[in-house]
Amino acid sequence: MENLLEHVWLPYTQMKTARQPLQAVSTLGSVITLSDGRELIDGIASWWTACHGYNHPHIVAALRAQLETMPHVMFGGLVHEPALKLAKRLADKAPGDLSKVFFVDSGSVAIEVAMKMAVQYWLNRGVSRSRMVSFRYGYHGDTMACMAVCDPDESMHALFKDYLPKQILAELPVDEASTAEFDALLAREKHNVAAVLIEPLVQGAGGMKMHDATTLRKVAEICRKHEVLLIADEIFVGFGRTGTFFACEQAGVVPDILCVGKGLTGGALTLAAAIARPHVYDAFLSDDPTHALMHGPTYMANPLACAAANASLDLFETEPRLKQVAAIELLLREGLEPCRTLPGVLDVRVKGAIGAVQLETVDAPALREKFAERGFWVRPFGDIVYLTPAFTIEERQLNALTAAIREVLKR
Ligand SMILES: *Cc1c(COP(=O)(O)O)cnc(C)c1O
Repeated sequence: MENLLEHVWLPYTQMKTARQPLQAVSTLGSVITLSDGRELIDGIASWWTACHGYNHPHIVAALRAQLETMPHVMFGGLVHEPALKLAKRLADKAPGDLSKVFFVDSGSVAIEVAMKMAVQYWLNRGVSRSRMVSFRYGYHGDTMACMAVCDPDESMHALFKDYLPKQILAELPVDEASTAEFDALLAREKHNVAAVLIEPLVQGAGGMKMHDATTLRKVAEICRKHEVLLIADEIFVGFGRTGTFFACEQAGVVPDILCVGKGLTGGALTLAAAIARPHVYDAFLSDDPTHALMHGPTYMANPLACAAANASLDLFETEPRLKQVAAIELLLREGLEPCRTLPGVLDVRVKGAIGAVQLETVDAPALREKFAERGFWVRPFGDIVYLTPAFTIEERQLNALTAAIREVLKR
């Protein structure tokens, strides 16, 4: 058999023992077709991006039209309608007065830019504050500065922890004691801290850990009390995933900077953004040229990606996405809750279109293979098996996925 892995280096994979991967040749809706003709029902929407399902005709048409006129043009010194329109729409959708949109090419870079904005926000005001506070089980991306704000032990970056800038790890304020602790931490450290980073309501790659709106609200309140910036990383939870368009809405929280990515283009192309409130943006306005934000990814605001994102936002307006998420939440509860009594199961968690079963141990590659044999694309990691389907998944497809999880975990 042909070795598919001769030249590609796969993500999060020990290449020495890697099995031959499945080869995808086409996608449609919630189905991935493989090179051997098999069809898999997709339970995770390509790392949580394809919220409208694959190849949605409205997104495909928008891409085609943009492709003919201008696939790309630099954003340095030039602007274009797809980006201007998208920035306005994101400003309209984002909570409160979040309204200054800086486009980048991936989620990790959005987080890098948000942290850079936070540090320079203080520098431009003549204050030196460089440290970040982030939470246990947090995940904010794979680049160096992002790894430094991931959970140092529980994330997959433990190997690097002695080689990264030292940041501050906090516990989420889930009860009185941890709230007092977080408050005391910021009181003590605020003169060193540029910003606090949080994944609102659901910490994704850290194991689909969920907290309630009260906890998120407390984080925001304590940040405000100590005048520390709050960066909400909605790269996973944004665009309806938790049941509201942005997760922050459920707590009535307006962060100082909001990061979006993943679902922004409906899963078609890579695009992300850091969206700031006016008071953050204003700190960069100056007669001093060094007060400008010196950042500019080559492909930032790529017109094709912006066209896909605009088409994706159209779909949120014209199709009942949040209703679909509410229906998915019920089906996930119904379908996954019975796993709770299975041997080896520690917890079952559902929020919006996110369902996770936490296990004592997970042999991810073996489980993946079992799901694929049964016609499903499910990709367990850490200690969880989870579903984050497209919001357009059919009821029978979702029920088949949860039934497959029950069956595979029973064995
Ligand atoms: C995926 C993710 C990132 C990183 O995004 P990339 O596009 O993979 O760089 C950052 N934060 C969260 C919460 C994510 O889920």
